[in-house]
Amino acid sequence: MLLMERRGILSGNSCAGQQLLLQRHGAAPLIWTIDLREQRPGQKEREQVMSMDIKKLAAEQDEYVIACRRHLHSHPELSCQEFETTKFILSELEKMNIPYVTFDGCTGCVAEINGTQPGRTVMLRADIDALPIDEANRDKNYCSTVPGVMHACGHDCHTAMLLSAAKILAAHRDEFKGTVKLIFQMGEEIGRKSEEYVRRGALEGVDAIFGMHVWALMEAGTFNFEAGERMACSDRFTLLIRGAAANASTPWLGRDALLAASACVMALQQISSRQNKAQNSLVVSVGMMNGGTEGNSLCDCVELVGTVRTFDRGLRKEMPDRIAQIVQKAAEAWGCAAECEYYFGPSPLINDDEELVRTARVAAEKVMGKDAFAPLRKMTGAEDFSVYMEHVPGAAGNPPKGVFGYLGARNPSKGIDCVHHHPSFDVDEAILKDGTAVYVQFAVDYLNSFPPVESRAS
Ligand SMILES: [Zn+2]
Ligand SMILES: [Zn+2]
Repeated sequence: MLLMERRGILSGNSCAGQQLLLQRHGAAPLIWTIDLREQRPGQKEREQVMSMDIKKLAAEQDEYVIACRRHLHSHPELSCQEFETTKFILSELEKMNIPYVTFDGCTGCVAEINGTQPGRTVMLRADIDALPIDEANRDKNYCSTVPGVMHACGHDCHTAMLLSAAKILAAHRDEFKGTVKLIFQMGEEIGRKSEEYVRRGALEGVDAIFGMHVWALMEAGTFNFEAGERMACSDRFTLLIRGAAANASTPWLGRDALLAASACVMALQQISSRQNKAQNSLVVSVGMMNGGTEGNSLCDCVELVGTVRTFDRGLRKEMPDRIAQIVQKAAEAWGCAAECEYYFGPSPLINDDEELVRTARVAAEKVMGKDAFAPLRKMTGAEDFSVYMEHVPGAAGNPPKGVFGYLGARNPSKGIDCVHHHPSFDVDEAILKDGTAVYVQFAVDYLNSFPPVESRAS
């Protein structure tokens, strides 16, 4: 397909699923089946410039991407303390002659690679932080050298793959239009740190953003880019239930905050069964209850901390009021008062833009094959990539221009079958070259397939 585009054989042909038969002297006929339905506006321009074999170029970076990943894996740093990690990324970018900017108060950076012709701007994202987990993979020579800190989510892989992709893109600027921005983001594991970069203007001029996560629940060699709800929000609430202390032998002389707090925990569970539409997914969990100092005394204050997970943006906005109403009534029933604080964490991650999802899926298919697509149900985990999606509005009135997907990382035949955030978590490194190629392929396809936003509007 690639070869024929370069030779211009396709020009003028426009039917889907067309077969081309090329007869060479004394050789067997060559038959290609071409699915032209994948073509989109700007395809002609793409044909003129696309000549790189991205999969091959990524395979040539295999040693580099694995070495980067192993270096990062053995030197993990906690969220927002990724100082050495950032230094490493910057030094690699400098070796590639790629300019970058850093931001006061943030680790990580944003780098920029310009194509030789004008066009749109696409941003590729990798997160860079590790977790407070003691690694159990002591038999592996790239095991963490920092006690109690580990890359147990695979962000080392994301960083390595994006560096490797940067290398390819920087060496082939004449193959794409516009600009590729690379964001190496701090602190994904602890909330909405992606917003720090948005506030500092890192997304200005960005027309679309792309991210992916190595995924331990999917087999190595598979990928998933799907439209619609993918991950839930992760909001946090803190409740203070205030009563009056008493001796436990005479509870009628006080107002038992612990009993009232227990009533609140029970009442909160009814939101999903009685107030939420059955079609929606909603989780309200209380994970922490702090109160009391001894068994024969009733305390006057109890703290409850919990989380809300939903994909429904409207319901999410209502949750602070719903929780406050229910908790205040439940506490009142036992003579206590309730104070509520609600913190909006990462938003629901929803792949709203179907055209962008299709571009990502086709890019992954080019690299990994059509059969490599694996369905994956939406999850009640969270990802702060969703914050970027809220801030890349695309053209006026359009849905957010972002897409997020998954790269299978599990390989039981190599003993790699632990879930994320597990002390024995690991990733089949054979997938790193594929991830590299998917980053590059998406960027190139997006930039070469769509005209600049300005010209589209005119
Ligand atoms: Zn994680
Ligand atoms: Zn992660």
